[in-house]
Amino acid sequence: APVRPFDHEFAPTRIVFGPGRLAEVGDEVARLGASRAMVIVSGHAPGGDTVTAALGARAALTWHEIAQHVPVDIASRATAAARDAGADVIVSLGGGSATGLAKAVALELGIPIVAVPTTYAGSELTPVYGMTGGQRKRTGSDERVRPRVVLYDPELTVGLPAAVTGPSTFNAMAHCFAALWAPAGNPLIAALAADAVRILTTSLPVVTTNPADLDARAGLQYGAFLAGTALGSAGTGLQHRISHALGGRLGLVHADTHSVVLPYVVALNAAAVPDMVSRLRPYLGDDPGRALWELAARIGLPHDLATLGATGEALDGVAHDVADTTNPVPASFDTIRALLDRAYRGREWQ
Ligand code: NAD
Repeated sequence: APVRPFDHEFAPTRIVFGPGRLAEVGDEVARLGASRAMVIVSGHAPGGDTVTAALGARAALTWHEIAQHVPVDIASRATAAARDAGADVIVSLGGGSATGLAKAVALELGIPIVAVPTTYAGSELTPVYGMTGGQRKRTGSDERVRPRVVLYDPELTVGLPAAVTGPSTFNAMAHCFAALWAPAGNPLIAALAADAVRILTTSLPVVTTNPADLDARAGLQYGAFLAGTALGSAGTGLQHRISHALGGRLGLVHADTHSVVLPYVVALNAAAVPDMVSRLRPYLGDDPGRALWELAARIGLPHDLATLGATGEALDGVAHDVADTTNPVPASFDTIRALLDRAYRGREWQ
């Protein structure tokens, strides 16, 4: 196919990738000219001690209170603590929830973030923030929250539980598919996204069999980096809107919703996006929706919304929230309602 006209902007983020490189986090903080770090550490993530040791006297404050979707009360307490400690940089260690809290603090204080992601969510590569709860529900895009440095150390992910690894990989894959059909997509990002699908789909079964396989873990994290780059450039679409509506209305876990819903959204769009199907044919065959469903089944993920805790009565509301989202196949209420019904039952390709 001919190369069509496009726009692309490179993000001003420094990427540091490799096993063992968490020990360089002090050097990264020093490169930014910062000397008082607020360290945000997810309770489940390893590496907190390495960060503290690497920062030495540059560690001003450690923060552990983190919750999914960044509750505004936690964000304001964390911001006050950072201000009181005179923090001039934030080091976040954890998944999208830790990165999200760092963004909330950076939004208020205008200080840079060094993000150390331990899942595959991709938030570290976007200027997008969100906070939930109370009267001050906020979401938006602001360059102040885009991490200045992202340090990927695959050793931090060898202990990521299977129940997080699989869904989080599907979250990364969702970014790739969105980029392959987004109006803001371009050939550079499509190439990154397709290579991300290749490495994510080949690494995930290896990690499922042997969670401590460092090469496969590095593959997943590299794929997540590519996917996050695609997300940061092309943005999100229908898949993401459905996941957020399910999370917001029903409290379902963000990454879990991606692994259940993605096969259906990909199947819906496949006929309308032949470029996506042909780019991914070497890895996913002729029916990418089915291939994703089979991958999820093969690694033992739940494949219906009912198992995640959704109720059939809530699906009308979710379809209402999502209807008319820009999508290659028009996303009418009826189309989305039917898709949700199939994902609720989860037996499409059985
Ligand atoms: P999460 O950060 O809540 O992590 C999931 C679980 O894994 C948590 O229990 C966490 O403690 C645990 N965990 C993390 N790292 C671990 C490790 N190395 N070992 C063991 N356990 C570990 O969830 P997530 O899926 O990473 O992120 C989801 C959140 O990120 C959502 O709120 C979503 O909206 C947000 N998000 C935002 C953007 C954006 O651009 N702003 C992009 C993607 C996701």
